[in-house]
Amino acid sequence: MPKAILLVHAGAGQVPENTPKDEEADCKGALQSALAAGYKILHNGGNSLDAIEAAIKIMEDFPLFNAGKGAIIANSGQCELDAGIMEGKNKKAGAVANITIAKNPISVARAVLENTEYVLLSNIGANKFAQEYDLEIVEPSYFYTPRSLEKLRQAKEDEANIMPTKLGTVGAVALDKEGNLAAGTSTGGSRSNKRFGRIGDSAIIGAGNYADNKTCAVSCTGYGEIFIRNVIAYDIAALMEYKGLTLEESANKAIHSKLPKDSGGLIALDKDGNYAMPYNTAGMRRGYITTSGESETFIYE
Ligand code: ASP
Repeated sequence: MPKAILLVHAGAGQVPENTPKDEEADCKGALQSALAAGYKILHNGGNSLDAIEAAIKIMEDFPLFNAGKGAIIANSGQCELDAGIMEGKNKKAGAVANITIAKNPISVARAVLENTEYVLLSNIGANKFAQEYDLEIVEPSYFYTPRSLEKLRQAKEDEANIMPTKLGTVGAVALDKEGNLAAGTSTGGSRSNKRFGRIGDSAIIGAGNYADNKTCAVSCTGYGEIFIRNVIAYDIAALMEYKGLTLEESANKAIHSKLPKDSGGLIALDKDGNYAMPYNTAGMRRGYITTSGESETFIYE
C-alpha cells in the first residue's frame, strides 16, 4: 500500500441506489479539491494543522456535504454546527459545539486550540468567540439550501426514524514533513430535525476526532452517540499504543468488531504514513493522497 500524507472523508452511510450519479461525481470532485489544497501545503513544507484546515474548509463550503454551507437543519429551525481539531505533536485540541453563525466552524475550533486554555466552547459562547476572533460570520440564511430545507421537511414527516440513512460529516487527517499528525472533523450533526442542543462526536475529542504523534490521527463519521459511547477515535490510538496492533488492525477492530453494522466509518493515518479508511455502512465518501501526489477518491468499494 502506498504511504499517504493526507486523507479526507465526507460522510459514511449512502444508500447506493438513492444517490444520483452526477451528485456522486460532484462529491468526488470536492474531495479531490480538498486533497489538492491540503497537498499543496504539505508538499511546500507546511504543517499538518494548516493542511487539514484548508481541506476541511473546502468541504465545509461545498453544499452537498453536511458541514458548513450544506449542514442539516435542527428542529429549532437553525443549523447548529459541531467541529473539532487536534494536533498530535502536543495533543492540543480545540472544538466548538452548536455554533450557528460561523461560515467555517473548523477555523473557530482551531482558534480555540491556538488562543485559549479551553478545549470546547458551545453555542452562544462559541458564536461570541468567533466574532471576537474576527472569523468569518454569516447570517443564518446562508445555511438554508433547497436541499437542507427539503430534508428537514422529510425528517419532520418521518419523526420515528432516528437512524440516518445518509450521513455527510467531513474530516481530514494529515502527516507533515516534520512528522506531525493532525485530525479535524466538522458536521451539521447526525440528521435533519435533530434535537435542538444535541452535541455529536465531531466536537468530542477522543470520540470523533483524535491525534497523537506516538500513534495516529483519526477522524470519524457516523451515528455520533455510538461513537461517543465507544470513544472510537481514541480507541484506535489506545489499541496501537497498549496492544501493539497496527493502524489497520486497530481501525478495523473498532469499526467491524466494536461497532454495530451501519453505524459509520473513519479515516486514520499513522506516523509512518500507513492509512486505513474502514466503514460498516453501504459507502463512505473518502480519498487519500500520497507523498508523490497520487490521489484516489471512492464512495463505495
Ligand atoms: N457523527 C456526526 C454526528 O453524529 C454525523 C455524521 O458523521 O454524519 O454529529
